[in-house]
Amino acid sequence: MSYISELFGLEGKVAVVTGGSRGIGQTVSIGLAKAGAEVAILCRTQPDETLAQIEQAGGKAYHIAADVTDETAVERAFDEIFRRSGSIDIVFNNAGICIHKPTLEASVEEWRKVLDVNLNGVYHVCRAAGRIMVEHGIHGSIVNNASMSGSIVNVPQWQCSYNASKAGVLHLTRSLAVEWAQYGIRVNTISPGYTATEMSVDTPDELKNAWMPLIPMGRMGEPEELTGAVIYLASRASGYTTGANLIVDGGYVCR
Ligand code: NDP
Repeated sequence: MSYISELFGLEGKVAVVTGGSRGIGQTVSIGLAKAGAEVAILCRTQPDETLAQIEQAGGKAYHIAADVTDETAVERAFDEIFRRSGSIDIVFNNAGICIHKPTLEASVEEWRKVLDVNLNGVYHVCRAAGRIMVEHGIHGSIVNNASMSGSIVNVPQWQCSYNASKAGVLHLTRSLAVEWAQYGIRVNTISPGYTATEMSVDTPDELKNAWMPLIPMGRMGEPEELTGAVIYLASRASGYTTGANLIVDGGYVCR
């Protein structure tokens, strides 16, 4: 085995990725599979494209249908993954949504919806994974997908529910990192900046043009540019890292 495989390889590991049907979750699922993990993709719709690409790359993956806002469905999904794959070593907690609206125009219902997917969903998944890891003595790694929006306020679009939900993910992560260190479970976040997926690519050009001068690297990130960050946090290479936030934003939050 090469030194790089020893450090970063995920052979024999079972990974769960939420929101792996498209965007960042799709790309990272393929990356985790290429690094050797068997990947259970938890989302609402059948992730045909992700499964096909993993199969083509010679990897192993399957779909588990669940909505992250439904805690019972998430618990059941994790039990099913453990039964089927025999372990849960890595979780990439990635499913998320964003609503751009000035606060006084958005409804309370919209606020609740964003918090329900982005914060409650992450909590449900951490809790279900943590329960299995603790019960079975698994020294797992949970990587929560926050956002630079958990640390800064984006302009010119208004998205207070999204920003608040991602700030919540950052501190939920630090809280669980400290609480679960005693079990050998590591919990970290990545914080992407603007990344070219459906969530951001469908954004009107005038908005994207307003973003570019604010990004020191002058471009959006590609989902592939997050894969290495997740593999690092999932692998033994980061064995002494917990409660950390790995920012991947082209320098945005430094300004
Ligand atoms: P996409 O909209 O491309 O994909 C979102 C994924 O989440 C889909 O696979 C969707 O699957 C899943 N999902 C949404 N709601 C639920 C739910 N209730 N239950 C289960 N799965 C759900 O988003 P991105 O790939 O762009 O974003 C992924 C994550 O990255 C999000 O948390 C986002 O906040 C974060 N992020 C994105 C940035 C960007 O610029 N794109 C920047 C910073 C952070 P399905 O519909 O099949 O359920």
